[in-house]
Amino acid sequence: MGMLEDRVANRRTFAIIAHPDAGKTTLTEKLLLFGGAIQLAGAVKTRGEQRRARSDWMKVERERGISVASSVMTFDYREKTFNLLDTPGHEDFSEDTYRTLTAVDSAVMVLDGAKGIESQTRKLFEVCRLRDMPITTFINKFDREAQDPFDLLDDIEQTLALDVVPASWPIGMGRNFLGCYDLFNDRLVLVSKGKNNHMDEGITCNGLEDPQLDELLPADAVEKLREDIDMVRGLCPEFEVDAFLEGTMTPVYFGSAINNFGVETLLNGLTETAPSPRFAPSADRNISPLEPKVSGFIFKIQANMDPKHRDRIAFMRLVSGHFKRGAKLKHIRSEKTMNIHNPVLFLAQDRELAEEAWPGDIIGIPNHGNLRIGDALTEGEAIRFTGIPSFAPELLQKVRPVDPMRAKHLGRALVQLAEEGAARTFKTRMGSDWVVGVVGGLQFEVLADRIRTEYDIPVNFEQTELFTARWVEHDDPRELKKFTDANQASLAEDHDEAPVFLARNSWHLERAEKDWPNIKFLKTKEQS
Ligand code: GDP
Repeated sequence: MGMLEDRVANRRTFAIIAHPDAGKTTLTEKLLLFGGAIQLAGAVKTRGEQRRARSDWMKVERERGISVASSVMTFDYREKTFNLLDTPGHEDFSEDTYRTLTAVDSAVMVLDGAKGIESQTRKLFEVCRLRDMPITTFINKFDREAQDPFDLLDDIEQTLALDVVPASWPIGMGRNFLGCYDLFNDRLVLVSKGKNNHMDEGITCNGLEDPQLDELLPADAVEKLREDIDMVRGLCPEFEVDAFLEGTMTPVYFGSAINNFGVETLLNGLTETAPSPRFAPSADRNISPLEPKVSGFIFKIQANMDPKHRDRIAFMRLVSGHFKRGAKLKHIRSEKTMNIHNPVLFLAQDRELAEEAWPGDIIGIPNHGNLRIGDALTEGEAIRFTGIPSFAPELLQKVRPVDPMRAKHLGRALVQLAEEGAARTFKTRMGSDWVVGVVGGLQFEVLADRIRTEYDIPVNFEQTELFTARWVEHDDPRELKKFTDANQASLAEDHDEAPVFLARNSWHLERAEKDWPNIKFLKTKEQS
């Protein structure tokens, strides 16, 4: 096997999707612990705290106790390199989450054992489904009273229309949670009380009839386990790798992240079954990770990660080839060559210069605003990666500087924020007001805070009567002009100067669509 094949085969790039509070942060921390990336449980939070203390704009985040910014954590486990992409859990920031999901090859779906599938789990799952993404399920909090495991499996199957295959099976729950039976490896894994940060202590059994089970577990628990497994084997299909990789079947693990329980079994499962970097769709063809030429796309921009340097970091998912520091890559949108001399690699607790990177890896590229979400960097080929979502904003507000003299500065700040993907910004044709569109209401607060702290412009957001925004297009520029001239009062331009129709209500939009049947009213616009 060549070096590239070898590295690709050993990469696992994934994200965790969960409804808030299901235990994503806790599981992340435990995965890093098992991966040897952090020494102490709590380090994820500590690092978060330090970062927050350093950066003012995250005040909103701190006040609300939510995580706004996502990051990347890389760790090694059993000769595999894992890249875990963190996603903000709060639903107002789902747009960022959706984009992050374009940069991973599989997802771990964490459920709260007492709650099963929740609203946010479902939404995030739908995004994964659009991309046929393989999902591994972890049902958490079995140290508490949980739903019956059969009901949980049924919930996943019914709600998500997904075939479920238990990979492990819980023995008891709550105070009587004794451990799990690892169905894929015929191992009994028992909870060991009192020891923190221990590894799961597995005992290999010779099938369910192994007399070790009777020695180690109370008689009623063994009996129930054997009955349950009988039923599981009767009811659930066998695990099929292909169905998993196509995203139609999910292996299900049970555990208690807070007690480190079930995490090692999950990690072993990911090592064995989670996919290595997949093909990336582009306008012309699917790009294989094994293509020797380097290519990648930007899926996220983060501004002011380090307040001392007012630069931005563009997160690039490497799609193909072996990237080396100093590489000269073509920025397809601007057709300019960029010398990537200081790419950043993200480690659990730190960042360092990336000397090299392989497909599936994420590197951070510091820049001053020339890189945008959806941009491709290649060794020359004009690749246009597809499927990076951009959503029509559902909430629109006007924004004004407290000091009217600062209107121009505000305009520049808004364009930058729009380029970064933090919001949509529109400048109205009449009156030249700035309208900001977001998907979730909390984004307004974050924006106001960022504009004040990063650009030193105190602003006010004001309610508008606007209902939604649609990008308008027509193949013939003259036709488009006719439409825009006739609808001046409802027109604005986005940060790329593309025309946008601002509808006052659904009737207004329907009316315009009826009156101008040849104009396209687009809900989404491809990024970049
Ligand atoms: P997130 O919002 O999904 O990131 O969830 P967190 O990891 O922050 O967990 C939410 C709450 O559930 C916290 O209070 C955790 O301590 C708690 N929690 C996480 N995992 C477990 C678990 O396995 N058992 C129990 N009992 N609580 C847990």
